[in-house]
Amino acid sequence: MTQSFVLPAPAPTCLPVAGSDDLFPVRRIFCVGRNYAEHAREMGNDPDAEPPFFFTKPADAAIPSGLTIPFPPMTQNLHHEAELVVAIGKGGANIDAPDAMEHIWGFAAGNDLTRRDLQAEAKATRRPWDMAKGFDNSAVIGPLHPIAQTGPMTSGAITCTVDGEARQSGDLSEMIWPTADIIAFLSRLVTLAPGDLIMTGTPAGVGAIEPGQTCAVEIAGLSPAEVTFA
Ligand code: MN
Repeated sequence: MTQSFVLPAPAPTCLPVAGSDDLFPVRRIFCVGRNYAEHAREMGNDPDAEPPFFFTKPADAAIPSGLTIPFPPMTQNLHHEAELVVAIGKGGANIDAPDAMEHIWGFAAGNDLTRRDLQAEAKATRRPWDMAKGFDNSAVIGPLHPIAQTGPMTSGAITCTVDGEARQSGDLSEMIWPTADIIAFLSRLVTLAPGDLIMTGTPAGVGAIEPGQTCAVEIAGLSPAEVTFA
């Protein structure tokens, strides 16, 4: 008996590779919370107190750079979060930090868009963050660059501007948990797979974006991740 899908199977979410017509197929999106000390403090937390923690976004929350999108619903306080995005090329579990770079396909600049008001409500009521973090179009991802061209991206300027005005400014070397440690921790919680993306946390200076504005995340050596809100 031939089996067939009862609905059209969804096509994978794919992101462009810089300088190429190739596409990177997205499997899952993991995000690290509070990975820069100054941002942890601005959100009222002690950056020295805890190991890295993770939340997720659906794969189809990822959108490429350069789009104009509807302003997200159900929020009066949409925030930008400039982040280094790690793209996994080789899966694995229990990866040790010294081996982590072998599992990386490449890197991108990203914006972990956050409905901060819904997140604050979730924190206050001890409910999940999903609707604050995992909404449609909530992961703006710039073109991916292969690690063979970028190197390990352990330092370099990371900035966010809104309509050209500086909002966030930091350096990748300020991450509390560097990329290799994040992969080691995360691969003990889940088995990583090719196509997984990891958004590695944001420096201080998060703030609101209004309808009509353009937000750009830039990381030295990578293509920018830009989004405009209708
Ligand atoms: Mn974030």
